[in-house]
Amino acid sequence: MKKIILTGDRPTGRLHVGHYVGSLKRRVELQNSGEYDDIFIMIADAQALTDNADNPEKVRQNIIEVALDYLSCGLDPAVTTMFIQSQVPQLTELTCYYMNLVTVSRLQRNPTVKSEIQMRNFEASIPVGFFTYPISQASDITAFKATTVPVGEDQLPMLEQTKEIVRKFNSVYGDTLVEPDILLPDNKACLRLPGTDGKAKMSKSLGNCIYLSDTKEEVRQKVMSMFTDPNHLRVEDPGNVDGNPVFIYLDAFCRDEHFEKYLPDYKNLDELKAHYTRGGLGDVKVKKFLNNVLQEELEPIRQRRKEFEKDIPAVYKILEEGSKKAEATAARTLADVKRAMKINYFEDTELIEMQSKKYTE
Ligand code: ATP
Ligand code: MG
Repeated sequence: MKKIILTGDRPTGRLHVGHYVGSLKRRVELQNSGEYDDIFIMIADAQALTDNADNPEKVRQNIIEVALDYLSCGLDPAVTTMFIQSQVPQLTELTCYYMNLVTVSRLQRNPTVKSEIQMRNFEASIPVGFFTYPISQASDITAFKATTVPVGEDQLPMLEQTKEIVRKFNSVYGDTLVEPDILLPDNKACLRLPGTDGKAKMSKSLGNCIYLSDTKEEVRQKVMSMFTDPNHLRVEDPGNVDGNPVFIYLDAFCRDEHFEKYLPDYKNLDELKAHYTRGGLGDVKVKKFLNNVLQEELEPIRQRRKEFEKDIPAVYKILEEGSKKAEATAARTLADVKRAMKINYFEDTELIEMQSKKYTE
């Protein structure tokens, strides 16, 4: 069986370091591994509109930002197909058929949808499109017959929902769709990177992000004003590293060689954590170290972004070409789906013959 990747991001803002460790870095590694037959990366504008219907300009403006972030992280259009969701109408058509395979109560149980409804104060009036976006996500994944979906932990319930739809579809209409596997980050800290404010998730919609395109100074300021252990008031006080975002970011980003380079008093993160826990280590010192580690990772991304920013029409062209290729692939799957559902009337010669016999015999 072919190995195919599908994943993507909502164009609701520039991409942040949570996206990077949760999915983006992995995608680039997978792309460069050469092990995949096809890689599709989708800018999910239609999904972004489900909770931004009154602000389409935000979605429109951010498409190019996300594309620039992709390219600057090393996604290569010669290998990876980058496309815009709304330019592939087959995805909407698939959603329409999958909707019949899912119950309202099943959607209501989806924990990610539940928490996102709460976060957006949608309790009293949930847009139908938003409520059903897990179904549209199943269309995105299955349209490309994806076998592998590299995403952050918040997407687990979406993948479960997709698998259920695939099983249901295949059992009702015959083997047609491919069941995808989720690929979560190996590093626990990367599953759901917290915000700089200590909130559980760094999220474009919460304004607690370090963006890949932030300047050196912006990153420094954000790191230096990060939330830490609120009970660690004086340097001598024992500190808590668990749930402390500064240490979670270090878990996600730092390697032993960073200590040698920027903080040679310690061999590794375990030693630094032990000192912080004991007391006698100030937040400022740890934050300065984190800043160095982050700058080292982000600087090459920033530099590459500057290059791509010089030719924006070329970036739109990449998305246009990608969208055409994605449409051709999705059209083949839609044809399979319609054939399986027997709603392919005009190519169904058996049906036409049978109906004509009914009237001529
Ligand atoms: P929004 O607030 O608009 O939903 P978002 O910041 O949650 O934006 P998405 O576009 O929804 O970003 O997510 C894109 C991908 O990045 C998904 O695979 C998601 O799991 C992953 N991701 C998003 N935020 C994080 C995070 N804080 N830690 C790890 N992975 C993340
Ligand atoms: Mg999200």
